[in-house]
Amino acid sequence: MKPVRAKKKLGQHFLTDLKIAQKIADTLNFKNYTKVLEIGPGMGVLTQFLVPKTKNLYLIEIDNESVEYLKKNYTQLETNLIEGDFLKINIEELLGNDSFAVIGNFPYNISTQIVFKTLAHRDKIPFFTGMFQKEVAERICEPPGSKKYGILSVLTQIFYDTSYLFTVPPGVFNPPPKVDSAVMQMVRKENFILDCDEALLFKVVKLSFQQRRKTLRNSLKTMNLPDNLREDAIFDLRPEKLSGDDFIQLTKRIGNGNFSN
Ligand code: SAH
Repeated sequence: MKPVRAKKKLGQHFLTDLKIAQKIADTLNFKNYTKVLEIGPGMGVLTQFLVPKTKNLYLIEIDNESVEYLKKNYTQLETNLIEGDFLKINIEELLGNDSFAVIGNFPYNISTQIVFKTLAHRDKIPFFTGMFQKEVAERICEPPGSKKYGILSVLTQIFYDTSYLFTVPPGVFNPPPKVDSAVMQMVRKENFILDCDEALLFKVVKLSFQQRRKTLRNSLKTMNLPDNLREDAIFDLRPEKLSGDDFIQLTKRIGNGNFSN
């Protein structure tokens, strides 16, 4: 493969180490899905290892030059190759109601948004694996209590079991990114039912971490919570002390009070 000049604003860092591409493809476990969607296939480094694994491989790539390259080199995938923006596509139009795995060496500039879109469509996405910048992969997998634990950690871990798989140095990309990368995976919790208001949960978590050094009492002030609730000891805590389940319980109590959104 001889990559064209990578376009920085599209987060293009083409992987050059085939062993790593193979290792990412090998994470697919084919439980509860038959289709696989690769985001940002670029020049197909990972794609070549996905092709032998599934007959139902879909590709979404925003860059026309990469799309032209893929069309020429993966003629068998032509009907499943979409030129577009993952953040804008209508997933149901593309994949129907079937469950699918998401995989990729993702564009780092939109990695958080990719995870949020996955959470929004989690009913169809039992499995998610791929490469992020190391810091984002760590945040997704981090348990409560540390500096890295944040919005992405809480919300992802409520719905998925996450694992940090391995670190990847800049030198195996063309051009090399300024940061380390890491491969991580998310496996959906199959029997999980969220028993609180989802929009309110997301709001509480986001507000709590907006000023992560403050206590919840301070950060959630703008929600105008009733005094008897605000006196509870949980409001003395900083957000990084709370697990996903703690946030769910808190959201339930906020939702049951005379709270108005
Ligand atoms: N998977 C390839 C390329 C990784 S670079 C490899 O490992 O070599 C990230 C890729 O994502 C680039 O090809 C870039 O064009 C593409 N991309 C960037 N933003 C995108 C978006 N919003 N939707 C789909 N693809 C995108």
